[in-house]
Amino acid sequence: MTRGVLAMAKRTRRWVWWTGIAAVGALALYAGTWRMWALTVLTWSMYELCFCPTVCSVTAGEGRACHKDARGRLYACRAVPGHQQIKTEALWRLTGNPFARLRPTYGDGGGSPAHRRAPAPSGEHGSVEPNQRLMAYLAALALVVVVVQTVVGFAMT
Ligand SMILES: [Zn+2]
Repeated sequence: MTRGVLAMAKRTRRWVWWTGIAAVGALALYAGTWRMWALTVLTWSMYELCFCPTVCSVTAGEGRACHKDARGRLYACRAVPGHQQIKTEALWRLTGNPFARLRPTYGDGGGSPAHRRAPAPSGEHGSVEPNQRLMAYLAALALVVVVVQTVVGFAMT
């Protein structure tokens, strides 16, 4: 019974968020200013990154993706210690991936240690489910675009 109440509370919270986002969106549509659109996107991306109820989706080793509850796409579950670190690392690793591939690789022992940026030593390696990653990047990208747009907008006035 408690479980049912909790699930309902979770659903209600999600509903409240989306109502809020829709309300700001409607206001933006009415006002027709980019500032309101920026606010809409900002609300959505903050919700996706930090607040939306989702699953951990960390895959460590050869195991299946973790399906424990998490809040926000940047965060992993609290049930398994270490999942947060794996998720953070996986998200950053993919972000920097195109650049990492462009960087020429010299022989392993060649470069001096000072020139190499060694990744944090971590015993556990894992990944995050692609669609979860996609949503996280999409939301982060939207956030960056809005912030840049706002800064440029203020600089121009
Ligand atoms: Zn987990």
